[in-house]
Amino acid sequence: GRGPAAPHVAMLVTPGMGHLIPLAELAKRLVARHGVRATLLTFASTASATQRKFLASLPAGIESVSLPPVDLSDLPPDAAIETLMSEECVRLVPVLTGILARLRETTRLVAFVADLFGTDSFDAARDAGVPRRYLFFPTNLHALTLLLNLPELDVSIPGKFGDLAEPVRLPGCVPIPGPDILAPLQDKSNPCYKWMLHHGKRYHEADAILVNTFDAVEPDAAKELRLQKPGRPLVYPIGPLIQTNTADDASPRAACLDWLDRQPAKSVIFVSFGSGGSLPTEQMRELALGLELSGQRFLWVVRSPSDEGDVNANYYDAESKKDPFGYLPDGFTERTKDVGLLVPSWAPQTKVLAHPATGGFLTHCGWNSVLESLLHGVPMVAWPLFAEQRQNAVMLTDGVGASIRVPESKGRSKIAAVVREVMEGEGRGAAVRAKVAELRQAAVDGLRDGGVATAALAEVADKWTV
Ligand code: UDP
Repeated sequence: GRGPAAPHVAMLVTPGMGHLIPLAELAKRLVARHGVRATLLTFASTASATQRKFLASLPAGIESVSLPPVDLSDLPPDAAIETLMSEECVRLVPVLTGILARLRETTRLVAFVADLFGTDSFDAARDAGVPRRYLFFPTNLHALTLLLNLPELDVSIPGKFGDLAEPVRLPGCVPIPGPDILAPLQDKSNPCYKWMLHHGKRYHEADAILVNTFDAVEPDAAKELRLQKPGRPLVYPIGPLIQTNTADDASPRAACLDWLDRQPAKSVIFVSFGSGGSLPTEQMRELALGLELSGQRFLWVVRSPSDEGDVNANYYDAESKKDPFGYLPDGFTERTKDVGLLVPSWAPQTKVLAHPATGGFLTHCGWNSVLESLLHGVPMVAWPLFAEQRQNAVMLTDGVGASIRVPESKGRSKIAAVVREVMEGEGRGAAVRAKVAELRQAAVDGLRDGGVATAALAEVADKWTV
């Protein structure tokens, strides 16, 4: 039942649709399969229209509570998003303690779950007497391994990751070239490095870590982290959890889906850089010309370039502030109107990836986008931007072989060549398409009744609800 006797879990969601979407999916599975109620605690800084609409569409059994606004005006204007999120969280601890204490009095609060930048909220959960503290890690085991090892790496690698001659080798992980290591670790004098180190230490305090990944996409890392090791929390790969029914379900069908209906099977490359990503003007123009040169059909979610205005603005709110089409090369829209469709700011991504006309995905390698692509069997062109996206591109391209990466120079002819290879190439492209089909099957199997992801979450829910 859903009365006060039903087990209840509180989940802290740090800013970003890329954190909210998978946590909400986790909540949905807990509600639907394990009779647990969930409350999502969100930050006031991310109360965007997109987020509000998303929260309003959640099913019964999932509540959401917006935490009060926090004054961050003392932080420098160029503070990294990881710093902003971490600071907002630590300043919310007193309020959060009160909220969790009240939830404990009125409901059967069995666990608290924090996400990757919210570890200071463990203090609130402990002070409020919540019996279990879990970490939800919305990205992969490669990134988790790096952060769990960061306290040691901080000592053993005193210089910059970017200057390393040899790639960073971690247990079970594809070797990652220094410059591709997690972006907030690149400049050790930036406060965001200290914050990541802090979180990496605190991850060890979790009772267990739930990770939105699956074994087949990073098999050696999974084997390693499934081992029980003293001082390391249990790790449960519970993914891929991707957005299921979405806020747009209630709205009329998006026009881009009607457009896809008119395109041949697997003929369109979907181009999108996540909920907040955008390119510098010059790269945006090369991408346009590269797509045109590739001769492939494309559906592109266009945002104003990143050199226009506040770097963090798009992260907190996906709506472009200016007309993004104005930055495209002259005549591009007209020349490509029969093969390309441009959509401003936001597209129903999972529906696009599920559409039979979609045959490739040029992605920034945000982990949710990667999982959505794999679950729909769509091969990827990797164009990483920030966060852990460059190391995701490495593990997908050099590791499992589910993508081809756009060369660093980002010139139009190289872009065109990579796009063509993934869509219809006979060599690497064909291998990538075959591998992605295999991963799709593994992902689908894992989520079935009795599948590995389902079994992992059931084990967690059993612990919570005894
Ligand atoms: N998304 C979407 N439409 C868009 C852009 C993004 O539905 O136009 C969704 C996408 O399906 C994914 C999430 O937003 O679930 C983006 O998460 P990801 O981890 O890929 O990237 P981030 O936004 O965190 O950079």
